[in-house]
Amino acid sequence: MRGVVLHAPGDVRVEERPDPVIIEPTDAIIRVTAACVCGSDLWPYRGVEKLDGPAPMGHEYVGIVEEVGSQVTTIKPGQFVVGSFWASDNTCEICASGYQSGCVHRVLMGTIGTQAERARIPLADGTLVATPTMPDADLIPSLLAASDVLGTGWFAAVAAQTGPGKTVAVVGDGAVGLCAVLAARQLGAERIIAMSRHAPRQELARAFGATDIVTERGDEGVAAIKELTAGLGAHSVVEAVGTQESMTQALRSTRPGGHVGFVGVSHDVSLPGDELFMSLVHLHGGPAPVRQYLPKLIELICDRTIDPGKVFDLTLPLDQAAEGYRAMDERRAVKVLLTP
Ligand SMILES: [Zn+2]
Repeated sequence: MRGVVLHAPGDVRVEERPDPVIIEPTDAIIRVTAACVCGSDLWPYRGVEKLDGPAPMGHEYVGIVEEVGSQVTTIKPGQFVVGSFWASDNTCEICASGYQSGCVHRVLMGTIGTQAERARIPLADGTLVATPTMPDADLIPSLLAASDVLGTGWFAAVAAQTGPGKTVAVVGDGAVGLCAVLAARQLGAERIIAMSRHAPRQELARAFGATDIVTERGDEGVAAIKELTAGLGAHSVVEAVGTQESMTQALRSTRPGGHVGFVGVSHDVSLPGDELFMSLVHLHGGPAPVRQYLPKLIELICDRTIDPGKVFDLTLPLDQAAEGYRAMDERRAVKVLLTP
């Protein structure tokens, strides 16, 4: 089968990879209908994250089940399925508490690489959620968004305790930040401030429910949030970048007693203990337990309440994956959908 392999920073190739086979009796094999390039794929692409030789890429996917292992009972061939970037059993104590991304049997889908024609999905019964019927083609981008960016944005909004009466600030205008705006709107936030300097992303943030846009960054960005919140800071702040600057901005934009939901994959971020101590802020985040939210998100998408698929502003055939990485790296695209 054809699949994306990252050979070195900036060197994305689409090449022949071995067809996936059932290894564990709990596995399924899917034919990938759509995959995409993640902001986190840019870390190794830019050489920020070290590569140990050529690596298969991709961890977001929707597709049709082709084959299941002997112990798979609920997932069946022919179903259209959505899964998250962590495969999880959905039965252990950690999964039962809603933290499937910390499952004791978890498998990182990025090690399998779903930017490909087919993929092996470990722990299929726990990992995959089938749609009620075969979805219309125009719903596929939104279902694919549920696989990571929407689920991650949703978790960030929940971790930041978004809800009625709350003012929410979102740091980061990538697909996850934009989906966090959408989530905050669905969760009933009163005011949603998107921090973005890019006109097309501001427009999408507004379409998803942002009430205010702040274009400043750093100390000026913090000052702008304070100005909009009577000098107090936001109740809920989503951090969706993963850098020192964004994390600092999130922490300082939150009022005492407020909550930060951080989901940007952290790179060289350190928090000074004294500032953390004095902030009186709740911090919660990490790799999102997307699986917890998938049934709900699939329902909202299939009944057309939400349309997170709008984050995909470039669709390319799988063979042009290298151009997709370039477009995201150069911020010419918010998010790139790949069709195998
Ligand atoms: Zn588990």
